[in-house]
Amino acid sequence: MSDIPAGTPQPAEIPPELQQNVFMTTLDNVYNWGRARSMWPMMFGLACCAIEMIAVQAARFDLSRFGMEIMRASPRQADLMIVSGTVTKKMVPNIVRLYNQMPEPKYVLAMGACATSGGPFKEGYNVVSGIDKYVPVDVYVPGCPPTPEALLYGLLKVHEKVFKESIRTAPWYKKGQRDEGITVPVLGPDIYNPQQVDLLKAAAAKAKEAAEAKARQGTAAPPAGAAPAAGTRPSPEELERRRAEARARKAAQESGNAPAAPAGGPAPLPPPAPAAPAVGGRLSPEELDRRRAEARARKAAQGGAAGPAPAASGQEPSAGGQAGKEEK
Ligand code: SF4
Repeated sequence: MSDIPAGTPQPAEIPPELQQNVFMTTLDNVYNWGRARSMWPMMFGLACCAIEMIAVQAARFDLSRFGMEIMRASPRQADLMIVSGTVTKKMVPNIVRLYNQMPEPKYVLAMGACATSGGPFKEGYNVVSGIDKYVPVDVYVPGCPPTPEALLYGLLKVHEKVFKESIRTAPWYKKGQRDEGITVPVLGPDIYNPQQVDLLKAAAAKAKEAAEAKARQGTAAPPAGAAPAAGTRPSPEELERRRAEARARKAAQESGNAPAAPAGGPAPLPPPAPAAPAVGGRLSPEELDRRRAEARARKAAQGGAAGPAPAASGQEPSAGGQAGKEEK
């Protein structure tokens, strides 16, 4: 009783009807008790973890017991953001924007492996490795998915954190202390933080310089006709050039005038053997046409001597004609 300041009413002086109804506490306790017992989560879910969050809100687990039965659809009326599910790069800007629209004091609970670290989709092309890269997380709830009981435990941990705060040191009552400049990441080739734009520009310039240097090395004039290094693919221009060379070689071979092999390059293919039909074999249609044309030319040169007409296309020349006899 010696700690009671002078002037404080003694219990004997408190009317009996009030003695059981008056208790003393601190302003912080009242302040935090009011905030913790009326914490309104924001109503949104991202993936499968949201199903467990919905279960926590339903009758079996019943968030109403903690004064949290109202999940607000507006960030301006919410105190707690439960990030429940896989955070894709498409959703991050919206989540950060919603967080920025929540008034202070505000809290974030990362529910499940995905929201905590990317979970089973970590390092995926479209998933971020944890929402804590973009908004400050107060409590992490592990699991895939966490059970409703685990989420309840996480919510109680948020309440514990609230009770550790003091109205005298709360940063949201001090100017400039919460002005952390949390920016909304923008979508691009990948998500980046605009606050690091100078850093990113310097890194991009360095990468571009390295790529240009590599390209300069790659385009250094190779020796004429040099074969590409093993394992490298020739460029489309190189392929087209080789095809043109091959076509020219083939045409020259067909006309009996094969070109010399390019210096240092692969030797041209040997000319094909004369197209003599195999014994007992059939002539190709091209060869037949060529022979028919020769026969007609000879016939015309002989002055239009009488003879049988060439056989129909696709058949061998008639055995009765002079040309046919020669060909046979
Ligand atoms: S942590 Fe598991 S249950 Fe939760 S959103 Fe990711 S994959 Fe789904």
